[in-house]
Amino acid sequence: RPAGSFGAGSLNKGGVLLRFYGLTDIGRRREMNQDTFCVHRFDDKQGFGLVCDGMGGQSAGNVASDMARTIIADKIRKAVETGGMDDPRSLLEAALREANYSVYKRSMVEPEYRGMGTTAVVAFVRGETAYCAHVGDSRIYLLREGRLLQVTRDHSLVQELMEKGEIKPEEIRTHPNRNMITRAVGVGLTSETDLMQIPLCAGDKLLLCSDGLTNMVGNEQIAALLGQNTGEDACRLLIEEANKAGGMDNITAVVIE
Ligand code: CA
Repeated sequence: RPAGSFGAGSLNKGGVLLRFYGLTDIGRRREMNQDTFCVHRFDDKQGFGLVCDGMGGQSAGNVASDMARTIIADKIRKAVETGGMDDPRSLLEAALREANYSVYKRSMVEPEYRGMGTTAVVAFVRGETAYCAHVGDSRIYLLREGRLLQVTRDHSLVQELMEKGEIKPEEIRTHPNRNMITRAVGVGLTSETDLMQIPLCAGDKLLLCSDGLTNMVGNEQIAALLGQNTGEDACRLLIEEANKAGGMDNITAVVIE
């Protein structure tokens, strides 16, 4: 990484440089970590990060999130490495469709995995564009010039209640049904994926995370920790902060700089 070529306002057009970090933690209350993540950098201009937050009793949630992570990551890697990718959005959609079908099929065949599923958020960055895909209540945030913007809209009961005006935004993090999601990977034969495309600027950071972070740490604090630290330190500090606040759930953070 040539000195000075990355940072606020100093990105050279065409000379995009990317860094990816990820960290997951079991938290302080759970007996198992059902979150998984993956970061992969192909070169200075291309790479991806993803987070999956599994659900289901015993080890089922873990199996679902691990399967989805592996399937999605393999599919993207293969497509990029063989040059077989034309449209990143179709690739992400196909990857999530395949993950959904495989998790669902397994849950049908193996009774101990009945009903398992997982969230999935993926950000594939190519050049100055981030292609995002999402199912469930894991989130993607964009930090730009100190301002934190939530890119994804949760597929959750509390999100719907808030949009109907039945609860206030600040109630989301503490609502008794905050864990109920309205869309997941692997619980049905098909699953709809939300796709987004974000034009990136120099100095932008993307954060992908599970609800174990966002239910514990507020947006202002996320913005501060993300803005004032390297991606690597931010992942560690965000998880530390979620644990300090109680660590009620598994916590995962992926940062793309
Ligand atoms: Ca969770």
